[in-house]
Amino acid sequence: MNVNRENHPSNSTMFGRGLIRHCSACGQGKLFRRWLTMVERCPRCGLKFERIEGHWIGAIGINTIVSFATLLVLLVTSIAVSYPDFDLVKLIVFNCAVVFVVPVFCYPFSKTVWTGIDLMMRPLQDDEVDWTQLSQSGNPDPEPNS
Ligand SMILES: [Zn+2]
Repeated sequence: MNVNRENHPSNSTMFGRGLIRHCSACGQGKLFRRWLTMVERCPRCGLKFERIEGHWIGAIGINTIVSFATLLVLLVTSIAVSYPDFDLVKLIVFNCAVVFVVPVFCYPFSKTVWTGIDLMMRPLQDDEVDWTQLSQSGNPDPEPNS
């Protein structure tokens, strides 16, 4: 394979692609069969997302940080807004709902963002992707599966 490293995306491009649930390497979307089920490899560039054993621990960390930060902000805000007559039962029910909804919502984003961060720390190797499918631009050519 003719490797053209000039096609390696910038860190900001890889991170941005992760934020919108796209492949950080090539920008391909549709990486999830269902909300929580990610494909093993990118259908466009062939990147195996679980690059090493234990790869997803970083995604779990991101998801945990985002979930607790959201809970903290909502808890403080709801107490501040309703002070001094806050309804404790409503507060507990609302924040418990947040505790279950936010991690499920953020799960796919945390996986693609973590893949982007991982690619920043450990750049792509020659045999990891089809280098002809990578581009510096934010969005790839029309997606082959759409
Ligand atoms: Zn890709």
